[in-house]
Amino acid sequence: MKKISALILALLMVVGPITGCGTESAVNETPGTSTPAVQDKSADIVVIGAGGAGMTAAIQAVQDGAKNVVLVEKMPITGGNSVRSTGGLNAAPTKYQERDGIKDSIELFVEDTMKGGHNLNDESLVRTLAENSAAAVDWVNDIGGDLSVVGMFGGASVKRIHRPSDTSAVGPMLVTTLNNKVEELGIPVLLNTKAEEILVDANGAVTGVKVTGEEGTYTIKTKAVVLATGGFGANAEMVTKYKPALAGFATTNHKGATGDGIVMAEKIGAGFVDMEQIQTHPTVNPTDQTMYTEGVRGNGAILVNKEGKRFINELETRDVVSEAILKQTEGQAYLLFDQEVRERLKAIESYIKGGIIVEADTIEGLAEQIGVDPANLKETMEKYAGYQASGSDPDFGRASMEFPLTQSKYYAGLCAPAVHHTMGGVKINTEAQVLNTDGNPIPGLFAGGEITGGVHGGNRLGGNAVADIVIFGRIAGSSAHAYVMENGGTTEPTIQAAAKPAEAKPEVEANYKDGTYTGVGQGKGGEIKVEVVVKDGEVIKVTLKDHAETPGIFENAEEGVVGEIIRKQITEVDAVGGATMTSEGIKAAVAQALEAAK
Ligand code: ADP
Repeated sequence: MKKISALILALLMVVGPITGCGTESAVNETPGTSTPAVQDKSADIVVIGAGGAGMTAAIQAVQDGAKNVVLVEKMPITGGNSVRSTGGLNAAPTKYQERDGIKDSIELFVEDTMKGGHNLNDESLVRTLAENSAAAVDWVNDIGGDLSVVGMFGGASVKRIHRPSDTSAVGPMLVTTLNNKVEELGIPVLLNTKAEEILVDANGAVTGVKVTGEEGTYTIKTKAVVLATGGFGANAEMVTKYKPALAGFATTNHKGATGDGIVMAEKIGAGFVDMEQIQTHPTVNPTDQTMYTEGVRGNGAILVNKEGKRFINELETRDVVSEAILKQTEGQAYLLFDQEVRERLKAIESYIKGGIIVEADTIEGLAEQIGVDPANLKETMEKYAGYQASGSDPDFGRASMEFPLTQSKYYAGLCAPAVHHTMGGVKINTEAQVLNTDGNPIPGLFAGGEITGGVHGGNRLGGNAVADIVIFGRIAGSSAHAYVMENGGTTEPTIQAAAKPAEAKPEVEANYKDGTYTGVGQGKGGEIKVEVVVKDGEVIKVTLKDHAETPGIFENAEEGVVGEIIRKQITEVDAVGGATMTSEGIKAAVAQALEAAK
């Protein structure tokens, strides 16, 4: 099983020169100028959005026999919101549950998901999700992923969430795995390329996608489109259009989650469901928007308000916990845990490193630091330890209390709810076909992931988004390929993928000034020169220009340090063992470059 190290590398691919577009391509003349317009391209399947669902769909289509598939991604990197998911993938019944003696079933999974979604969910989609979930875990593991630890999460009756074996966040593991597979299969990814419009013929069947890339605007002619553009959680205007009560809320979403797919689908007559169902995540740091995974509560943490008192069963569904926090003083609460919980969950280390967790040797010390009444907090903690020992929480009915929270050190993280997941979206059937407003499939249009509505109903359970991405991404890929086979068959690739050097993905938001900067640092063999590219406020690329370091050692340092800098968006990262001086040189050079970007 592949271990995911601290360094998360995403091997991305870019497209080389257009080759062999054949008779379908045309060179257009821009009227009134002599500049030729950008050449059109063609493919059998265009997948819009290279997040979890899109990459899964593209891979599955190729695994089914598709040859001419292209991924279109508007951002400079793949991964979308998927890379930010921290929990895992809900699945039942799996061999890992059986190994751990957990009794689960498709029925129970369906029941929990319907209950969690307030029965607003489309039950046929929920059933499809549950029925294909065990195979989804195996699929991710088969393509090089690591989902083998089963844990408890809010809204599930039993341990059902499948996570990486080192208990790290699922998103980076999943996206790295998908990136690697996309590269291995030679699927071209057009980065920095925004889909603007889905083109249809007189019968409403899909014929192409209008995109704008670095070279300009052009059409990719195609037989099938998989819409995998994710949600609209980062589009405050759209969020408040559908749910005015969320005006002014922060978001946990990446910048690209602007609902483009919603707009494109609406234009060609797609039906929508549950657009007003927008989930807030209950535990987001209000200062830097870091989302504390639900696993922190699932693994034993409690929530206390600014008076030092518990106020809710911490394992309640997200909507219930979010609402309860908003009712507390300043609409905020503290996520509180002890050393034992910290040691159980690797994700906590990143919060501590990020400086958003307060720690103390005693409960009173912690209370003082966070400005909470020490006597109240002590009483709360003693009471909770008693409940944990007796296995019953008469105050709030929390069923699973992993630890008594009595082991020093003690930790607290401030949290409040933020817009997290948009549960509504385009209407699909169990084949991932997009349905029009009359309920009929739009020929050639498929969708999977957060762009779709109906799977989660009125509340998405933790672990069901990743399940949704993989399960409906796979179905969308298979359905698109089947459609292509019924409509002329698969053709040879017309867009070539070209390997690009490894790039890492930012995990945290930064706020540098956009531009390209250079810097110099002192390595072991002399000066190391770097070029740093900042886009949308984040360092997206570090290129090492000149150096006199020892071959082998240098590459190790480059891979480790550059990846970490991009992932964390800071230069104070660990040096690579055995390559300390080179690492320090690279760090210093990037730090110097970034001075100009502040
Ligand atoms: P999901 O979880 O459903 O896969 P993600 O947010 O992970 O959703 O991925 C959606 C991806 O789609 C993101 O990488 C986003 O940048 C991309 N995307 C959104 N709109 C467009 C668009 N108009 N053209 C191309 N890519 C897009």
